[in-house]
Amino acid sequence: MSMVYYHYDVSDISTGILHIGIGNFHRAHQQFYTNLLLHDKDQQNWGICGVCLLPADEKTVKNLRAQHLDYSLTVCGRNGEDEVYTIGSLRELIWGVEDPEAVVRKMADSSVRIITLTITEGGYNLDKETGEFILGDEKIQHDLKKPAIPVTVFGFVAEGLRQRKAQGGTGLTILSCDNLQHNGNTTKRAFMTFIEAQDKELAAWVEKHVTFPNSMVDRITPATTPEDVERLNKLNGTHDQVPVYCEDFIQWVIEDNFIAGRPAWERVGVEFTHDVTAFENMKLSLLNASHTLLSYPAFLMGYRKVDQAMQDKNLVKLIRTFMDADITPFVPAPENTDLEKYKETLIERFANHSVSDQVSRLCFDGISKFPVYIIHNLDKMIKAGADLTRPAFLIASYRHYLKYRKDDQGNGFEIGEPWLTESDQELITSENPQDFLELSAFKGVHLKGSGQFIELYIRFAEEIKDAGVVSVLQSIIK
Ligand code: NAD
Repeated sequence: MSMVYYHYDVSDISTGILHIGIGNFHRAHQQFYTNLLLHDKDQQNWGICGVCLLPADEKTVKNLRAQHLDYSLTVCGRNGEDEVYTIGSLRELIWGVEDPEAVVRKMADSSVRIITLTITEGGYNLDKETGEFILGDEKIQHDLKKPAIPVTVFGFVAEGLRQRKAQGGTGLTILSCDNLQHNGNTTKRAFMTFIEAQDKELAAWVEKHVTFPNSMVDRITPATTPEDVERLNKLNGTHDQVPVYCEDFIQWVIEDNFIAGRPAWERVGVEFTHDVTAFENMKLSLLNASHTLLSYPAFLMGYRKVDQAMQDKNLVKLIRTFMDADITPFVPAPENTDLEKYKETLIERFANHSVSDQVSRLCFDGISKFPVYIIHNLDKMIKAGADLTRPAFLIASYRHYLKYRKDDQGNGFEIGEPWLTESDQELITSENPQDFLELSAFKGVHLKGSGQFIELYIRFAEEIKDAGVVSVLQSIIK
C-alpha cells in the first residue's frame, strides 16, 4: 500500500465547478481527476463545491465537514497493490435541506462555470417507456408552482439559473456523469421540459447560454459500509469517517462542448471527443449490462461479493457468452479501442479481489437500470431473431428476486427498489409469470411479441422456483 498526498495549498483553490450528488462514485472519479489537476497552478480555479439535496445525505455532509472536506480514496489494484490518495479538490459543501438559498446563490454565482451531476439513473425523473420527463410527479409539481422554494434538482437548477440571468451572469455547462444513454441529451431534455413548463423566458436563455455535453464515465466504486470504514482505516492508518474505495481502472470520455470554459482535464487522462456515442454504447452495453446480467442470478445463488461470483466458472461463461454472442453484434468499436481486449479487461475488473464490489449494489434499482442497460439491445436482439436464452434467464431471475426475496439456500433478503410503481408491486406479486413482463422497466420492448422469449422465460421462471437458479444456469451453460 502506498500513500499519495496532495501537495497544493488549499487556500490557493477557488471553486469553478458545482457538483450535485457527493456520492461514492463522484468522489472516486471526478474528484480523483480534479485533485490531480489542481497541482497545476493555472488550474486552481477549478475546485469543486459539493451540493447534496437529500435528507439521507446528512451523515456524509456532517462527516466531511468534520474533516475539512478532505477524504481518502483507496484505489485497489488488480495486482493486489493499493494506492491511497488524499483528495483535496472538494473545497465547499452545501446541504440543500439545511440551506437551500445557499445552493441557489452558488448556482447564480458567475465563478461557477460548470454544474456536474451524479444523481443516479432514477434521479432524472423519466418515464421508463417514452423517456419523457414526468411533469405530473408530485415534487415536480411543487417546484413548478413554488419556484422560490425548490425541493428537486430541477427546481434548484432552474431557480439558480433564473437568478444568474437576472444578475446578467454568464452561461454555464451542465454535465451529467450518470450512466444514462446520451446522458447530455437526456439531461437537456429533462431540464428543458421542466424549465419550459415553469418559465418560457428562462428556457429561451438556457437554450442560448447552457450546453449539455454527453459523457461516458467508468470506474467501479462499491458502496462504503460501516465495516469498510473500519477496515480501510485500519489498513491505511487513517481516521476517515467517509473514505471511498474503488478499482484501479478509470475512464472519462467527454464531448468538448463547454460554453463557459473547462478544466484542462486532458492533462490527467480525460479524453475529449466530438462524439461520445460509441464509447457510451460500449460501456453501457458491455459493462453495465453484464453487471445486471450477473447480479440477480449471482445473488440468488448466494454470492454477496462480485469477485466471489466471478470464481464461478458458469457465471463467467454466462457473461462472456452474453458479451460475445448477444451484445457484440450491436456494439461498433469506438476509435482506438480493441473490443476483444476491452471485454477481457472487464472480466478481470469484475474479478478484482481487492475491490470486492457488492452484488447488492448491482441489484439496486433494477427498475431504472433495465431500460438503460438491457432493454435497448434486447429490442434489437428480438428484431434480429437472435437467441434470447440469456435475457430470458435474466428477467426470470429478476422476477424471482423481486417476488420471493429468498435465495437458493432459503436466506431472505431486502430488495433495494426506490422507484417501483404501485402497478409494478401488483405485477410482482401476481402468480402468473407473464404479468411480470408488463413491469414499467420493460415498457420499451414488446416481450410478449416474441414466442421464443415467452417460451424460455416461462420455463426458466418455473425451474428457478422448483430447482433453484443454479440448476437453470447449469442447463443453459452446458
Ligand atoms: P451513491 O448512492 O453513493 O450516491 C448517490 C448520490 O446521488 C447521493 O449523493 C444522493 O444524494 C444523490 N441523489 C440520488 N437521488 C437523487 C435525486 N433524486 N436528486 C438529487 N440527488 C440525488 O451512488 P454512487 O455509487 O455514487 O452512484 C451514483 C451514480 O453514479 C450511479 O447511479 C451511476 O449513474 C453513476 N456511476 C456509478 C458508478 C459506480 O461504480 N458506483 C460507476 C459509474 C457511474
